[in-house]
Amino acid sequence: MKIICIGRNYADHAKELNNPIPKEPLIFMKPSSALLVNNKPLYYPEFTKDLHYEAEIVLKIDRNGRHVEEEFASKYYSQIAFGIDFTARDLQSKLKEKGHPWEKAKGFDGSAGISEFIPKANVIGPEGVEFFLTKNGEEVQRGHTKDLLFSFDRLIAEVSRYFKLHQGDLLYTGTPAGVGPVQIGDQLEGFILQEHPEKKPVQMMTCTIK
Ligand code: ZN
Repeated sequence: MKIICIGRNYADHAKELNNPIPKEPLIFMKPSSALLVNNKPLYYPEFTKDLHYEAEIVLKIDRNGRHVEEEFASKYYSQIAFGIDFTARDLQSKLKEKGHPWEKAKGFDGSAGISEFIPKANVIGPEGVEFFLTKNGEEVQRGHTKDLLFSFDRLIAEVSRYFKLHQGDLLYTGTPAGVGPVQIGDQLEGFILQEHPEKKPVQMMTCTIK
């Protein structure tokens, strides 16, 4: 199982970190040891002083495939989850400056928070899906996938040009604006708005920073 992640997939988020808007999807990976499931706490890593949350919609790949055509890509996932791409922002900045890979800042243990999966038909409407994150009960980040620079289908097509997709792979589709730091003791909660019967937020996951 691999965890594929997309960087800078919302223009407002690229701007808030002073990054250029990409012309093609920016792809990186996390190891399977990064997974944080079942609402487990995240222990604040000792190698950072600026741990950030990034709320994201995650697709679960349920078919194997290479060189998937964009028009057939939606057949490759039927469930989605709420994910938090935890990032050691200070370390990432240092690595970026040196032109080094991001793995230490993005792929550490527990850096891939993930909720249970729900059928995409329950939450993805004609315009996409809306989601938000709260920190200690206050909303800190909200996104709608209509604002994605590269759609879910385009991402699947692009990723599968380089990496064969396997059943069970996860695809973190990028974070909207509003990323920020967490401290020990903070509680994060992720919500997705269901499509039917009405736009009602469903709590998908919670994570305490310890
Ligand atoms: Zn991210």
